[in-house]
This record gives sequence, C-alpha cells and structure tokens, in this order.
Amino acid sequence: MKITAAESFVLRVPIGSGIADSMQFVTQLEFAGLTIRTDAGITGTGYTVTVGHGGAVIQKVIDTLLIDDLVGKDPRNVREIWQQLYFGKSHWIGRAGATTMAQAATDIALWDINAKAAGLPLWQLLGGARPADIPIYNTHAGWLNYSIDQLREEALKLTDQGYTALKMKVGLADSREDQRRVEAVRKVIGDGVLLMVDANQKWDLMQASHAARLLEDMDLAWLEEPLHPDDIRSHRVLSQRTSIPIALGEHVYTTHAFRDYIENNAVAVVQVDVCRIGGITPWLEVAAMANAFNLRVCPHAGDLMQVHQHIVKVIPNHWLLEVIPIWEQGPFKHQIRLKDGKCLTPTEPGASTEFTSRAFEQFRVS
Ligand code: MG
Repeated sequence: MKITAAESFVLRVPIGSGIADSMQFVTQLEFAGLTIRTDAGITGTGYTVTVGHGGAVIQKVIDTLLIDDLVGKDPRNVREIWQQLYFGKSHWIGRAGATTMAQAATDIALWDINAKAAGLPLWQLLGGARPADIPIYNTHAGWLNYSIDQLREEALKLTDQGYTALKMKVGLADSREDQRRVEAVRKVIGDGVLLMVDANQKWDLMQASHAARLLEDMDLAWLEEPLHPDDIRSHRVLSQRTSIPIALGEHVYTTHAFRDYIENNAVAVVQVDVCRIGGITPWLEVAAMANAFNLRVCPHAGDLMQVHQHIVKVIPNHWLLEVIPIWEQGPFKHQIRLKDGKCLTPTEPGASTEFTSRAFEQFRVS
C-alpha cells in the first residue's frame, strides 16, 4: 500500500454559551488535521484540537513540513514514518507545540488507515486487552463560570444520569472560594461519587500548597495541573506536601518529560494526551512506561475521546476516561457513545476520527 495524497483541514465548531477554566473562556473548538489517501482506496483521518485559535499554524506545519514526506510511503510502516517525520523538516523549529500536534494528527490518520485496512476498530488492531465498556468521568459538571447553585444542579443532574465520577475546575484568586465550591459539590454528591479538581496550571508553589491544604479533607481522587507543566521539581515538592494524588500530562509533549516526572515521583495519575504527545505511537510508549511504575493512566480529552476510547482498551493500567459531552450531536461520523457512566465499546473499523460531510461543509475554515 502507498500513500498517494494528503489534504489538510481546519474545522471551527462552536460550543454554545462557552465554558471557563482558570486560564481561558472557550466558545469554540478547532479541529486541525488531515485526510490521507492511499492507492488501496482507503482513506485515513487524523486531527488535533485547539481551544479556538492556532489551528491555522498547525495546518501550515502539516502543509509545509509533513505532507511531502508522507506521499509515496507505505502507511503500514507507521512507526518508521513517525521517526522519519519527527527527525525531519519540523525538528529544527519544533519538538513541542504546533509541530508535535501536527505530527499527532498525521500519526492518528495512519493508524486509522491501518485499522480500516484490517477491517477492525483500532483497539482490536492494537490487541485489545479490555473489550468491556469503560468507566468514565464527566468534566462538564464544574466549569469556573458556573455559580455554586449551578455546580450543585449540574452535579445532581449527572449523578442522576449514572455518572459515578465528576471533575470540577478550581484556580480562583481566592483559594477559600475554591474550597467553598468543592465543599458544596462534595456535600450534594455524597461520599459514593469520585470527585477530582483541576487548576489548569494557575498556581505557583505557595498557592498550590495552600489550596491543597484547604482541599485536603474532601476525599479528592486527584488534583490536576496545579503548576506549570515544565516544572517537575515543584510538582515533586507539592506531592510531598499533600496526600491528594497529583495528576498531569495534558501539556506534556515528550516521552522524556513523562519519564522525568515519573522517575521523580512528581506525578501520580498520568494524563498523556494523544493530540499533545505526537500521536498514538508515543502515547502507547508513555502508557507502558507508566504501567512499569504501577501508575494509572487517565488521558486528557484533547481529542474529545474519539481516539482515546480505543487506545485505553489496549493498556492494563487505564482507570477512567475523561468525557466532555458538549454537543447533542457532535461533528463526528461515529461519535463516542455514553451510557450509565460508561463509554460503549466502538465497533466500526478505524480510529473513529472521521467527520460527517455536513460538519465539513458547515465548519470548514477556508
Ligand atoms: Mg485539565
């Protein structure tokens, strides 16, 4: 099989009235990616996601640094292609950021081709270890722009729908206000529901330590991204100061950085994101490394879970899948299916990355 052509795209999709964390207010998402065609008639789709800006930069990387080096290659040699692209034209200006996210889209499209060629859902092509439906947690319950009343309402609505794990945002200037919000949610959901909090890198070490102390007795499953994602040392110090497990990984770009976090006991829950780490190929390496250190993997929903729903089924150390159900009907042809607090096992061949033709017409940025 040979790659005959590839074409990049950006889709910009609105998400209703908007959602806030401690760093940004998001009203639209961008899907920047590419379609790869082969002489076997099989087409693969891969994408990476931005919070509404930067998709054009990723598209430019795909167009000017990656596509020429894909055409003519055999897409079945996906790991060789990953190495060639990584040490190719983008290496001088990249190794993190838009270049890695562009490479992620490419790698995902290649795995999509391979799964379709085998006639299998991606998780089965990769040797599925966990065919059963997988446990999920919902992040849509706790945005920072919600009032305490709204937080309570959303939390109750979701637990009524069968969710047994919820995440909420923290990272306000006054950590006591964060404490009040988390207390209100914990009170309304009771002890039987898992609760996590996410600070989105907002704090320095002093405020993170203070906030962790205030949140210490809320029985939190984890505290996510308390500090800057390059600051391994401060995460190690914070981990020593608090009993709340520290989770991170959605802004970590390399297997080397994950190794250093793990080796330094600076992370307890590994949130490696397929769109950030450079695709499925390195994602599997990080997940296996975490397993060797007896750490759980709970990937960040950077792909809206279309790809992660497959690859978490391949690893024994997966715990919970993050879901952010922002649309009734999303832009995907085979959107993830959620029921009773679980993500149903995908059955269609491929990586579930294809968009509907309607989404392409409606949302494509020219
Ligand atoms: Mg997060």
